[in-house]
Amino acid sequence: MNLLEGLEKCGRLLFDLCFPRICAVCGRTLLYHEQHFCLECFADIPFTHFWNVQDNPAEKVFWGRCRVERVYSLFYYTNNYRGPIHMLKYDGHTPIGKFLGKMLGKKLLLPDNFIQFDYIVPVPLHWRKLLSRGYNQSEVIAQGIREGLSGRGNVPKIIPNLLCRKRFAASQTSKEREQRWRSVKDAYALNRYCRRVPGRGSHILLVDDVLTTGATLEACATILVEQLGCRVSIATLAYVE
Ligand SMILES: [Zn+2]
Repeated sequence: MNLLEGLEKCGRLLFDLCFPRICAVCGRTLLYHEQHFCLECFADIPFTHFWNVQDNPAEKVFWGRCRVERVYSLFYYTNNYRGPIHMLKYDGHTPIGKFLGKMLGKKLLLPDNFIQFDYIVPVPLHWRKLLSRGYNQSEVIAQGIREGLSGRGNVPKIIPNLLCRKRFAASQTSKEREQRWRSVKDAYALNRYCRRVPGRGSHILLVDDVLTTGATLEACATILVEQLGCRVSIATLAYVE
């Protein structure tokens, strides 16, 4: 270790002492070498392994609804592992989104199922939400995925503003299922002001934080498939069983 590295390590140790970093799952104070997760919680991440499995449960969510080629989620959204998503969405902790996105990107590089994506498109937030949160968590994840994918082939470009959310989230609890779907479907559109529009046949990786009912992703994917003639695959950090 040279002098510079030694100084950097001392600085980080001092920083950790003043502002302890905690594990996103169990809340324990992290050690110097740990990033976002303590070693135990990192080892226990409930990976889905969907990147190795065609016709996986996440892909079946979209069967009969819209034409989606592959669906990848990094881990199951179980009780303990909701923490990282919560930190990303509500605590302004963007580095964990990038960290997990990069991890997912690397999984997609596995040789036997490698797909060359042309573009990465995050699910958009309504501008009012974007203004209050200060960032789009899906875009943060997309940046991580892009970084993870940079080891092979052409690195896909991110188009953060290809889609837009037209309507602010309304309370959906009392609405019927059909009405609910209609309101999600109509909430998204192509952004007229986006300058980079993928050509027909381009393969887009659509990115969101969590896959639950798939309504949002279905709405966005349908626009990309039907209006732009693109091929669409989906990547989310978490998958709700
Ligand atoms: Zn932990």
